[in-house]
Amino acid sequence: MTLEQTLPICVAGTWRLGGGERYATRYPATGEPVAWLNAASLEDVEDAVQGAHQAFLNSGWAQRKPHERATVLYRIAELIRQRSEELAQLQRQDNGKPINETRALVASAAGTFQFFAAACETLEETITPSRGDFVSMSVYEPMGVVAAITPWNSPIASEAQKVAPALAAGNAVVIKPAEITPLLALQLAQICEEAGLPKGLVSVLPGKGSLLGDALTQHPLIKRVSFTGGTKTGKHIAHIAADKMMPVSLELGGKSPTIVLDDADLDHAVAGVLYGIFSSSGEACIAGSRLFVARALYAPFMQRLVAGAARLRLGDPADESTQMGPLISAAHRESVERYVALGLAEGGRLLLGGQRPSGGIYDQGYFYPPTILEGLGNNQQTCQEEIFGPVLVALPFDSEAELIEQANDSLYALAAGIWSRDYKRAWALGRKIQAGTVWINTYKQFSISTPFGGWRDSGLGREKGRLGILQYMEQKSLYWGMNEQPLAWAGAEARP
Ligand code: NDP
Repeated sequence: MTLEQTLPICVAGTWRLGGGERYATRYPATGEPVAWLNAASLEDVEDAVQGAHQAFLNSGWAQRKPHERATVLYRIAELIRQRSEELAQLQRQDNGKPINETRALVASAAGTFQFFAAACETLEETITPSRGDFVSMSVYEPMGVVAAITPWNSPIASEAQKVAPALAAGNAVVIKPAEITPLLALQLAQICEEAGLPKGLVSVLPGKGSLLGDALTQHPLIKRVSFTGGTKTGKHIAHIAADKMMPVSLELGGKSPTIVLDDADLDHAVAGVLYGIFSSSGEACIAGSRLFVARALYAPFMQRLVAGAARLRLGDPADESTQMGPLISAAHRESVERYVALGLAEGGRLLLGGQRPSGGIYDQGYFYPPTILEGLGNNQQTCQEEIFGPVLVALPFDSEAELIEQANDSLYALAAGIWSRDYKRAWALGRKIQAGTVWINTYKQFSISTPFGGWRDSGLGREKGRLGILQYMEQKSLYWGMNEQPLAWAGAEARP
């Protein structure tokens, strides 16, 4: 297929041109088109949901034994692995992440399918302790058609986290990827088909979320929405879900504190803080974007941190040695720049960055350097709002009591990091920090076997973990009567 040809989208097992506007996806490192496609239309949404509903009812997928569904999921994992380099290169072009990072995301997507295949075939239903003349059981059943709505920052990994457990549970899935990064979701649908998943169980609808995502969420046949994205959008989805009495899981934004105590191992802490905020160019919900450093250590720590950040390699995502690629789009870079300007207007001082780089590839793509601000208070806007870019605000602290108050003083509560040589101290502090995930002497490490999600404005529900599959299932209680005699209450009246 040539670049100018329009890519088909996947509507209930049929590959066809979307009914919406034609648009190009662009490589953030150069601004050049990667692929052309037509967005899905509202008719495509309707066809995808109706087709998924029919596939759910008639394909027999939901009725297959768990180990049979698992076999297909293992095959999906295997096909992702076979194509891993091609997928990693495509994702690099789709969202501009460095190739080493996209390879890791593709590997994680394969691992996710493998994990949920195993979760599916080992999921146990329970016989509950009987309290009468009956046997009582608790079993799980699929929900029907679920919607997976994903953002642009980690395509394929985000989709896999929703699609794998949803399919494992026996459902059909309609994916709405971010308008600007639809290519990996389309590849995933193809792989599902090749792996032998019945037609219609997966659809992919690229295009604007305000139109398509909204229509999907409102659709009466959509029985659950699993959403990852911004808090504002998440709240909007939650309102619609409330009206439908529909369960949702919402993985939303963050402004995560990273805490360096006065007894931290500095080599580990500097490397961890740099990785926590600047990897993925800061376009990560869990970015450690608020740095709290014990005052006694503040000056030497910041000196090492700034020197380390200045050495990070910002550049061509195709280059194996690149650590930071461009931001996703021109508009997003402008938003990051506005936050840096706001930080300065609020009284912050720049320790590093804050200026677009220039020359060579920097003039073509949406590059922005590691940027560090100090001199701000935790209650200021720059310290409270998610920037979603490579911008770190550094704050010294004097006492642990003050630290805990400030670290928890945020609408968000997604993640946190603690650096200390004293494990008891770090443990005690970790239990007091309000966050869905706390990393101690490490940061931004992930495991599909460990549940993930946020508190407060960072979201609702948990993804991942062996029991993550239950998010996509309804629980049902079954009672079997074992009485020798009719039920006593009307037993006498029932006799002829
Ligand atoms: P958005 O909320 O703008 O978009 C996320 C997805 O929702 C996109 O597919 C978008 O479509 C779609 N969408 C937009 N409007 C609606 C609507 N009214 N109804 C249904 N769907 C809609 O977030 P961003 O794309 O800006 O992603 C960045 C955000 O995601 C950050 O806040 C980040 O913290 C968060 N995030 C959270 C993670 C977590 O696990 N907690 C992980 C990764 C990111 P489209 O873009 O096509 O318009």
